Amino acid sequence: MLFKGQCHCGAIRVELSTDRQPSDQVLGACQCSFCRKHNARAFSDPKAHVTLTAADPQQLQRYAFGLKTSDQIICRQCGVYVAMTLADDGRVWSVLNIDTLDERALFTRTPEARTYDSEDREGRIARRKARWCPTTLVGWPAPTSR
Ligand SMILES: [Zn+2]
Repeated sequence: MLFKGQCHCGAIRVELSTDRQPSDQVLGACQCSFCRKHNARAFSDPKAHVTLTAADPQQLQRYAFGLKTSDQIICRQCGVYVAMTLADDGRVWSVLNIDTLDERALFTRTPEARTYDSEDREGRIARRKARWCPTTLVGWPAPTSR
């Protein structure tokens, strides 16, 4: 199944390819303060594949906090939080804000509260590589140094 979505204005587009029914997909409610402020429903499945497309790369805003091991992807123009990405060794993984999908209402499972405060940097990166969605970035702007 292929699910499509985007930020509100369409500058950042999302595609999720998965074999599982939306009603079977486990959703997370990460308890970090960023995700709580967005009330984000997080989706990640290592068997799924995500494609993130910067239709208008100028509008793509990265935000990092805490251990700064990932980038929060936000649209500058419409303010929607789209996904969190981790890049390492030429590969990319992401967790999707499931509510960016057009058919978000099909994803009906109650998000499970998750807390990752006790992780160290290495543990966090290892978990993400194991659990997040393998991801293809299209038209993505090069990261600015920080
Ligand atoms: Zn937008």
